[in-house]
Amino acid sequence: MSEAKRIDGKATAARIVARVKAEAERLRAEAGMRPGLAVAIVGEDPASQVYVASKARMAEECGFRSERHVLAAETSEAELLGLVERLNADPTIHGILVQLPLPKHIDAGKVIRAIAVEKDVDGFHLTNVGLIGTGQAAAAFVPCTPAGAMILIRDVIGDDLSGRRAVVVGRSNIVGKPMAQLLLAADATVTIAHSRTADLAEVCRTADILVAAVGRPQMIRGDWIRQGAVVIDVGVNRIPAPERGEGRTRLVGDVAYDEALGRASAITPVPGGVGPMTIAMLMANTLVSAFRAGGQEPSR
Ligand code: NDP
Repeated sequence: MSEAKRIDGKATAARIVARVKAEAERLRAEAGMRPGLAVAIVGEDPASQVYVASKARMAEECGFRSERHVLAAETSEAELLGLVERLNADPTIHGILVQLPLPKHIDAGKVIRAIAVEKDVDGFHLTNVGLIGTGQAAAAFVPCTPAGAMILIRDVIGDDLSGRRAVVVGRSNIVGKPMAQLLLAADATVTIAHSRTADLAEVCRTADILVAAVGRPQMIRGDWIRQGAVVIDVGVNRIPAPERGEGRTRLVGDVAYDEALGRASAITPVPGGVGPMTIAMLMANTLVSAFRAGGQEPSR
């Protein structure tokens, strides 16, 4: 069999961002409105700092108003809730994102619930979760990573996933569960696997569509992959890369990419697969929110 197609998330994300940018310009010209995105981060986790910086940068690139709130690790829950309240009330802000994870002394669920549903561009608010779970994703903000992964799957397979068996490895509220809901809504037959799943390799081998969202470097081996499967690797893991020099590291996914190439029909690389799609979908959600604030919908 020939080598798997490399799914270019970076190129797809660039096309989405270009469309967002054009629609943001249209909103400005027609309604005098500029989409506004506020991102808040508490503490100094280096990976989170990088994510927040790139989200803010991309928002500026899209022509959005972009606010970055960098709060000290000791910030209290009440202070963070106060910031969320102010952003909820600010008519120039259409999207609010609080970067997770939050320090242990802050109840992340409480903070997410405090974000106004119509500004919850991360799609984590219970109302958005409920809309997706009841097949009403079109009315919701869908979490950015699964939304982006779904676009890549549809690009490869098409809109109708009936008859396809999908396995999602990982059941987090951020990735695994909403991913499974979206696949189900597209008529795939879905299995969710996790750390307590027996015979994980065997379960993975049943998948026509395999989504890995675990956070364990290269855990999914080539021989876990059904011949011809579409593999979406959400994992982002930093591992030592002594071949690049002392102390150097590199990013890998949850799937052993080189092994998977000989089995899958298509696979997302890490980096350059799902990651860029996540940021693009955040921009798309913020654009939708701004249009809705003006009583309209963007063209898609
Ligand atoms: P979580 O840690 O919240 O969830 C990980 C899931 O993997 C859990 O459901 C866990 O099971 C399961 N798991 C852990 N170990 C095993 C195992 N040995 N076998 C089977 N299942 C296992 O992570 P997230 O969902 O937040 O993120 C997953 C990965 O995706 C991470 O690498 C993260 O960095 C990446 N990510 C990438 C994004 C992107 O934009 N590309 C965005 C968000 C995340 P259990 O529930 O039983 O503990």
